[in-house]
Amino acid sequence: MQTIQSAITEATALLIEVSDSAALDAEVLLCHILEKDRSYLRAWSEKRLSSSQRLQFQKLLQQRLDGQPIAYLVGKREFWSRDFKVSPDVLIPRPDTELLIELCLPLIPENEPCKIIDLGTGSGIIGVTLAAERPNAIVIASDISEKSLKIAKENAASHQLKNISFQQSSWLDDIAPDEFDLIISNPPYIAADDPHLKQGDLRFEPQHALVADDDGLKDISLIAKSAYSYLKQGGHLLIEHGFEQQEMAQMIFQTFSYANIQTHKDLAGLPRVTSGQKLNDT
Ligand code: GLN
Repeated sequence: MQTIQSAITEATALLIEVSDSAALDAEVLLCHILEKDRSYLRAWSEKRLSSSQRLQFQKLLQQRLDGQPIAYLVGKREFWSRDFKVSPDVLIPRPDTELLIELCLPLIPENEPCKIIDLGTGSGIIGVTLAAERPNAIVIASDISEKSLKIAKENAASHQLKNISFQQSSWLDDIAPDEFDLIISNPPYIAADDPHLKQGDLRFEPQHALVADDDGLKDISLIAKSAYSYLKQGGHLLIEHGFEQQEMAQMIFQTFSYANIQTHKDLAGLPRVTSGQKLNDT
């Protein structure tokens, strides 16, 4: 008879072949089936699994052994301490993107309205997090993909947000002229020939959310170009990019007349977000 503990031990032994976090993966999958948290697994380690639980676990385990990302198997991922629904239609939230949130929060006043747009919102993590952290802000989250917008809307609803709205648009193309305080994006920025695309979770993620032409710079450039006329005087544009794209990102921001261009480092000390400000109309 399989107990919680023996199921975890056996699954971990198999997952070691495909995952750097085998034991954690096994526990997260089992928690998903049991609808419990990880402390339950410890407290009830000798409890037997029912045959239906065993079958469900075997199925998820096989999918994980085939490479499927944990976030898609359990349908959610945490970002900035909130749970977000995810599916293969959206990129899996990454802790790296919390750098964007850290940089945005000090730019958003707590007690005054502030207009924000999150371009290419995917599961909605950036727009939803900012709307939740700053209830006086008015946030638009846009995406070209209808399927992404559906998930982002569900995430806004599950966090009971009233200050965020959604719009289908390719970057700013379908957004009405406006003056935003803050324009933010985590666009696709991986070059089409990057070998990482053939590894790990990235193999299962929507390629349109990962890959951009011109060595990964095309969308960063399109956004920087169009964002300028959508910013208020003094407004900020912040874009996440790859750790080797600092120089090119800065050059793009310069080309389109941004002032105070800065590149910010993530927790690993890598340059991952470039920001700029609109300071005059040229
Ligand atoms: N940071 C992600 C990765 O390298 C890519 C995310 C993106 O393209 N926006 O896996």
